Amino acid sequence: MEEVEGPSALLPKKSPPTLTPKAIIHQKFGDKACYKVEELIDPPQNGCPGLAIPQKGPCLYRCCLQLPDFSVISDACKRKKEAEQSAAKMALDKLGLSATNHNPSEMDPLEDLVSRLSYLFSPEFLSANQPLAGHFRAALHREGNLCGLVPVSVIASYDAKVNNLCKSINPEGETNPLLVMSLILREGSKLPGFVSSSEEKYSLKKGNPHPLEKMQSVIDKQESSLEIIQIEAVRIPHSPDKAIETLNLSVPLNGYYLDIIAVALGLEDASKILISRPIGKASSETRMYFSVPQSAIWDQSLGIVHTKEADLEGNFNVRGSYLSGSNVCGDAIMASIGYIWRDTNLFHENMSVKRYYRLLIGKNPSGVYKLSREAILAAELPKIFTTRTSWRGSFPRDLLCTFCRQHRFSEPLFSTISNPQESNGSCKKLKHGESDNTEISAIPVGTMESFRCEVKIFSKSQELILEYSPKESYKKSNDAMQNAALKVLLWLDKYFTEKEVTMEELTTFGDSIGIHFNPHVVSKEFTLVGSICCFDESSKSGKFFNSNSFDLLSVQRDGTKCLVDNEGSDFGVLPSYGSLVCITYIVNLVGEEECEKEPLESCEEFEFEIGIGAVLPSIEAVVSQLSVGQSACFHVELPPTELILATAANSDRIMSLLSAGRCKLEYSTTLLRLTEPLEERMEQALFSPPLSKQRVEFALQYIKGSVATSLVDFGCGSGSLLDSLLDHSTSLETVVGVDLSKKGLARAAKILHSKLSKNLAGAGIKTALLYDGSIIEFDSRLYGFDIGTCLEVIEHMEEDQACLFGDIVLDSFCPRILIVSTPNYEYNTILHKSNLQGQEDDADEKNPSQSCKFRNDDHKFEWTREQFSHWATELAKRHNYKVEFSGVGGNGEVDPGFASQIAVFERVEDVPNRDDDDDDVATHIYQVVWEWSDI
Ligand code: SAH
Ligand code: MG
Repeated sequence: MEEVEGPSALLPKKSPPTLTPKAIIHQKFGDKACYKVEELIDPPQNGCPGLAIPQKGPCLYRCCLQLPDFSVISDACKRKKEAEQSAAKMALDKLGLSATNHNPSEMDPLEDLVSRLSYLFSPEFLSANQPLAGHFRAALHREGNLCGLVPVSVIASYDAKVNNLCKSINPEGETNPLLVMSLILREGSKLPGFVSSSEEKYSLKKGNPHPLEKMQSVIDKQESSLEIIQIEAVRIPHSPDKAIETLNLSVPLNGYYLDIIAVALGLEDASKILISRPIGKASSETRMYFSVPQSAIWDQSLGIVHTKEADLEGNFNVRGSYLSGSNVCGDAIMASIGYIWRDTNLFHENMSVKRYYRLLIGKNPSGVYKLSREAILAAELPKIFTTRTSWRGSFPRDLLCTFCRQHRFSEPLFSTISNPQESNGSCKKLKHGESDNTEISAIPVGTMESFRCEVKIFSKSQELILEYSPKESYKKSNDAMQNAALKVLLWLDKYFTEKEVTMEELTTFGDSIGIHFNPHVVSKEFTLVGSICCFDESSKSGKFFNSNSFDLLSVQRDGTKCLVDNEGSDFGVLPSYGSLVCITYIVNLVGEEECEKEPLESCEEFEFEIGIGAVLPSIEAVVSQLSVGQSACFHVELPPTELILATAANSDRIMSLLSAGRCKLEYSTTLLRLTEPLEERMEQALFSPPLSKQRVEFALQYIKGSVATSLVDFGCGSGSLLDSLLDHSTSLETVVGVDLSKKGLARAAKILHSKLSKNLAGAGIKTALLYDGSIIEFDSRLYGFDIGTCLEVIEHMEEDQACLFGDIVLDSFCPRILIVSTPNYEYNTILHKSNLQGQEDDADEKNPSQSCKFRNDDHKFEWTREQFSHWATELAKRHNYKVEFSGVGGNGEVDPGFASQIAVFERVEDVPNRDDDDDDVATHIYQVVWEWSDI
């Protein structure tokens, strides 16, 4: 089918043009209709986007069409266009419009409603393959005087056209389903031959059943047996103090399931049941069932239902209302049951307490992410989007779209701005807010294109809820967009999960990341969030489950899997910043008696990127200490109960454990694999020995040649240099490392301690110390050392900080020799030409030759040889040092020089003795994190 637009419009009009389903949808919804086509192997499932399975060879397509009120998914089609048309057709069917009888001229909605209702009660409709028709058929099986009665709430819930017409007649129907029902009841009972039973029954029935109806019911009754379906549903008591519990519904196959649910709600029959829209995915059949408010009075003369506000308040079901998006009074039942499209059988699925909680946490941004990773107790919404290849779980943009759909907002509006920027040639990383380390690249000369992405979130009624204006630019438009979505998600998540958060805090946080919001609209749109979603119970100090505190129970080496330290020196590679790690983990709930254990969550292979907050902090802290094959077990305080129950298969058992006494969560994890950051991967693959080893070797030569007795490693990281020093016998007696990364220091301490205490270390070492501190601040305990090293550190600081470090170290620390290494930017072209780069590149990269990235996401700058030599020469001059240039990796004599460039500064005069007076405690600002002495 081709769309009749364009040229055909110029042809003489013989008959009114037939519009394609897509064209009609376009007329009605314009930009609000969103088509997503995906390739698939499997036949379509009941699910929206994200399930696409790429395959080779010819493929089938299906299309998900998202409209403001619902979405449909087409059948599998051979062509993308067909899939789109098919989805559009389905949407039209669902709206009660069809491509053929569509009449664009405006009709009176009341007339429309009447004719729609009379169609619904016609024999054609009775045999239609759609959900509402299933109810009409089932109604014929109801007993006694209920036979044939169709509750009006059913018509209101399952016929989108009736629903829309009612809302256009009375816009208040948008928020009050009772008004929609009254209209249907009023107009329906005016139809000739219709009976609305007494005011007690909010139902309609055709007076004289059509012959076909009789026949159908006879046939059905013959076939039907006494078979009963057992399905599990969940009860949500209106009192928030009562627990969510499961209940069993026994639905006779030839009965009407709504009557069964009604009885479970304490009602006589289905006539006073209200039904929510689907909960969770648009295509799901999970709905909330609850009763018409007790005080509702059906006013026959006015055709209107009255309710008393007071009744709403006393009985208001906060949990039910929050999850369903409707105003729920009294107890509610959530069940996954109903008649579905193109199937005459009753669809049903068990509902569990676990699923209730999963739907609940699925309404906040971090919850959506956790669910997308199937790791509720392990994953956290990361703070940064680094690269497409290292991100795990749903992408931020999709998460934000899901969030907006869940809360019935308009689709988020992204606008990416591309601006060519004049580069000043200093290869400086594009400016970033916070301590971001988002993948950024720079090009030394000429212009470069950069992207910024704005986001706006609108409510359903098009009020602006919040707006993100980026402070950062990104080299790739996708990075700009994903990070923008992530910023919005992080802000929303703060609102959703921090119980005590104030508007001021939200404003301050928003300002810091570039988000402005309309407090009035925000509180209006999220009225119930405060009472539901901000988990409390076990949360300590306002923030929940973010605590870094945990008890490490054991670290084990699995004899078969661990790296054997046969030389007594190789501790294996430890995960570091930017590494991708793969772990296996199990989480148990442990009761007061340690023997009471209940499994909650586990994963055979769970991958995450270190350093972006992608997991529970304690998992990251522990895993950062493991080498491949090692396992650890630790306890943490309980997270909010909602999270625990969202993982618990046996919620009764968990509830009884939780109420019995103090419980903890026990995590057992094993590090399976480790992929190091690009920098390390390249350095190891391209250089032999690896570049990092070569740097250490270079420093060792100086140490040996200089008969130094003291060394300080500025920015020691996880101690690779100090560790290697211990393997050689040198003149060194005192070795010190300084860093501000606690994780790095912890790993350094672990390695050094183990080596020194096993007496494996070079005999001469008398003192080893690790300090937590910033190397741009002076600490007098490190004054006048023989050698200072600073390997691959300065590029991790902002350029001005790196310059400051230069001045402070030569002016205040005054080492006799200072060795500084940093990447040579010019060498990157060689590194990037290596095939390793392929893995990092996105398909959308327009010009691969332009993708001159830094070697590591955390680098703030990388200098050319000229920039480095300028810095070092001027610095040496200022402080009366000599400087010589060298490097490792490649050849210094030919372009583009060494891979790592090194400057060696040497003091021209002797280091003056410091007065004891100078050495006051005020300059002891570093903190000792580990100390070892050979006495
Ligand atoms: N020298 C180590 C680590 C290099 S990674 C090696 O060659 O393996 C860079 C290190 O610099 C990181 O550990 C980081 O924490 C540290 N660093 C960055 N800025 C710092 C500062 N201002 N003070 C102390 N350490 C810093
Ligand atoms: Mg580096």
